[in-house]
Amino acid sequence: MSWEDNVRKMVPYVAGEQPKSKDVIKLNTNECPYPPAPAVAKLAQEMDTGLFRLYPDTDSTSLTNALSEYYGVKPGQVFVGVGSDDVLSLCFLTFFNSDKPILFPDVTYSFYDVWADLYKIPYKTVPLKDDWSIDVEGFKQENGGVIFPNPNAPTGLFSSLEKVEEIIKANPDVVVIVDEAYIDFGGESALPLLEKYENLLIVQTFSKSRAMAGLRIGFCMGNEKIIKYLNDVKFSVNSYTMNRPAQTLGVLAVKDDAYFKEITGKVMATREWTKKELTRLGFTFPDSKANFIFASHESVPAKDIFNYLRGHNIYVRFWDKPRINNHLRITIGTDNQMRTLIAALEAYLG
Ligand code: PMP
Repeated sequence: MSWEDNVRKMVPYVAGEQPKSKDVIKLNTNECPYPPAPAVAKLAQEMDTGLFRLYPDTDSTSLTNALSEYYGVKPGQVFVGVGSDDVLSLCFLTFFNSDKPILFPDVTYSFYDVWADLYKIPYKTVPLKDDWSIDVEGFKQENGGVIFPNPNAPTGLFSSLEKVEEIIKANPDVVVIVDEAYIDFGGESALPLLEKYENLLIVQTFSKSRAMAGLRIGFCMGNEKIIKYLNDVKFSVNSYTMNRPAQTLGVLAVKDDAYFKEITGKVMATREWTKKELTRLGFTFPDSKANFIFASHESVPAKDIFNYLRGHNIYVRFWDKPRINNHLRITIGTDNQMRTLIAALEAYLG
């Protein structure tokens, strides 16, 4: 017997590489290439740091209120956390508490199976169809909960709200979580369905479309009962999850809707340009509605392209995993960054 026998041993989630050098064109972790809203930068400089000696508001009231106003739901229908990873992790802990397996796609956000393992939640994956679309029928089997991203990651494919509703409708006895981390780049949120389904939970983030990955702000929306259950678990883990600057600066980001639309619009326009260029160079990909493209080349292996780009200080994401080991996930950067990427690919692929 050793102390190590009782350790909870995990194979952790591996986040994309954060390069030390500033010269890298970083297209590997789906951040926004533009700065946060101007008022965020201004207030960050003028912030009353004397307040840092005090604990933050445990309920993140101002941020919760700003989100409730923006999305037209009650404050009691919003829950905020330290990035959507924090929110999702608490959701797994709170709502996936059955002996039956939870369901998620086989190709999806690679944190889901890690949380399931961490909390000892049985799970079963539902294979995506050959065209990478979500197999709605697969989500009609008996289960202890359902989660999928929309648009899905890393494919970028958006499932219509009809499909999303079909999955929710088929699962009235469990919580269905729609992870909308990438919803602001041309998809349609399931938010209008909240009225109809009390077991629906929608998770979103400030990390991609609001250009604030470094501040760690995520949130979810559901009916008041579901949010109350989530708060009870949160307050059983850590009362002060969100720090003061994140709460204050997050409000300013929500208030500047024009800037939000401007930067998401720019990312979408750059994405469409990049799709055409990638096609011209012999890549194929599912039609992304996210801030990344999941591309495969007709003749050159993804791993070789990945290594070549890395050698030229352009970072994209590659997973050596079944089904997806000939694909690269390329985050949409600025026009200039994407032009540099395309030029590098052109030089390599001939
Ligand atoms: N969901 C999906 C599908 C993601 O790709 C990510 C980004 N890694 C997240 C959630 C978490 O993002 P964050 O914690 O920065 O909000």
